[in-house]
Amino acid sequence: MKETLHREVVIVGSGPAGLTAAIYAARAELRPLVIHGPQPGGQLTITTEVENYPGFANGIQGPELMQQFEEQAKRFGTEFLVTFVNKVDLGRRPFTLWTEDGHEIRAETLIIASGASAKWLGIPGEAPAPEGLGGMGVSACATCDGFFFKGKPIVVVGGGDTAMEEATFLTRYASRVTVVHRRDSLRASKIMQDKALKNPKIDFIWNADLKEVLGSSETGVTGIRLHDNRTGEESEFACEGVFIAIGHKPNTDVFKDWLEMDSVGYIKTAGVSMATNIPGVFACGDAQDSVYRQAITAAGTGCMAAIDAERFLDSLPVTTPTGEEVTIEGEVISADHEKVTLPGGEVVSNLPEDQPPADGEAVVYARHSTELPS
Ligand SMILES: Cc1cc2nc3c(=O)[nH]c(=O)nc-3n(C[C@H](O)[C@H](O)[C@H](O)COP(=O)(O)OP(=O)(O)OC[C@H]3O[C@@H](n4cnc5c(N)ncnc54)[C@H](O)[C@@H]3O)c2cc1C
Repeated sequence: MKETLHREVVIVGSGPAGLTAAIYAARAELRPLVIHGPQPGGQLTITTEVENYPGFANGIQGPELMQQFEEQAKRFGTEFLVTFVNKVDLGRRPFTLWTEDGHEIRAETLIIASGASAKWLGIPGEAPAPEGLGGMGVSACATCDGFFFKGKPIVVVGGGDTAMEEATFLTRYASRVTVVHRRDSLRASKIMQDKALKNPKIDFIWNADLKEVLGSSETGVTGIRLHDNRTGEESEFACEGVFIAIGHKPNTDVFKDWLEMDSVGYIKTAGVSMATNIPGVFACGDAQDSVYRQAITAAGTGCMAAIDAERFLDSLPVTTPTGEEVTIEGEVISADHEKVTLPGGEVVSNLPEDQPPADGEAVVYARHSTELPS
C-alpha cells in the first residue's frame, strides 16, 4: 500500500478533457492531481494528423498536441500519477479512489475524464500503425478523418445509426461509400435507414463479415477481405478507406455503481454544468458525450468541469442534472430557485427579502437566478 494522497481536485484521465480541466484547476491554484490511466494523452495519441483542432492552421500530430496540453498543465503545477483507477467510493466526501499501483486517494472534488473507446472488430490490418493500418486508411471517426478521403472509394462497417450517419456524412468526400453489414437488414432507426438507402452514393454489401483490411504502410489501405456468411465464399473488395462504425464504449465501468448513466454507460451530466448526480463529482469529454466526441468539445467540457469544481469548492451553487443546485455545505436550491433545503432537512425561502432597496442601492438576488425581478 502506497501513501494516501488528499487533494482538492482529482482528475481521472489525461486526454483533452482531463488536461484542459487540469490547466484550469491548476491556474486556480487548486493543485490538481491527474491520473493518466491506460492511455496517457488519450485517444489522440493513436492518431496522426489532427486538422480540426483550432489554433493549428497547418494541423498538428495527435501525440504532439497532447504533449503540449500536458506541458501547459504541468506549467501551472498539475501533478500526475501513471496508474489507473480500479475502485472508487463516492458515498461521501472526500471521495476515495484506489489505483492499480496501490495508492489511496481522497478527493474533495472529482472530475471524471476517462473518455470512451471505439469498438473494433479485432481483425488483421485494423490496429493503429505500425502494427496495422489504423491512421493510414482505417478510422472510427468520420468527422475526424472524412476530409482525408476526398474522391476516394471507402467502406463503412456496421448496420446501426452510427454507421448510417457516418456513411451519409462521408458521401460529402468519398467517390463511393459501400456499407458492409453482417446481416440482411439494418438495425438503424427507420429515418437513418431511409436516408442511407436513398442516397445514390451509398451501396450495400449484405451478410458479409469483414475478415481483414488489406494494404501496407507504403500504399495505405487498398481493400478488404470479406466472408459471405450465407455461402461461405471469400472475396476481396477494393477501397482506400475503412470506417469501423460499430459503436463506442465509455470507460466508465469503475463508476457504474455510483453515477447515473445511460444504457451504454455515458455519465449523465447537468447540461448547463458538468455536474453528475453526486455533488462534487463532475464528468467531461467523451465519458459523458455520445454525440460530438471531438477533442475540442472534450476540451471545452473539461474547462467547464474545472470551473464547476472551483465554484463548488468556493461554496457556490452548482446545477445538477435535475435542475436543482447544490453547495458544498449540502444545501439544495430548488430548480425554480425559490426554496433552499438545508442539510438538516429544513426548507427556507431563497427569495430576496421583501424590502425596498435604499435609493441607488443595487438589490442582490440569489445567484443563478434566471428571473429578473418585476
Ligand atoms: C484514431 C482517432 C482519431 C481521432 N481524430 C480526431 C481528430 O482529428 N479531431 C478531433 O477533434 N477528435 C478526434 N478524435 C476524437 C478525440 O480523440 C476524442 O473525442 C477525445 O480524445 C476525447 O477526449 P477525452 O479527454 O474525453 O477522452 P480520451 O482522449 O479518450 O482520454 C481518456 C483518458 O482517460 C484515461 N482513463 C480511462 N480509464 C481510466 C481509469 N480507470 N483510470 C484512470 N484513467 C483512465 C485514459 O488513459 C485517457 O488518458 C479521434 C479519435 C480517435 C480514436
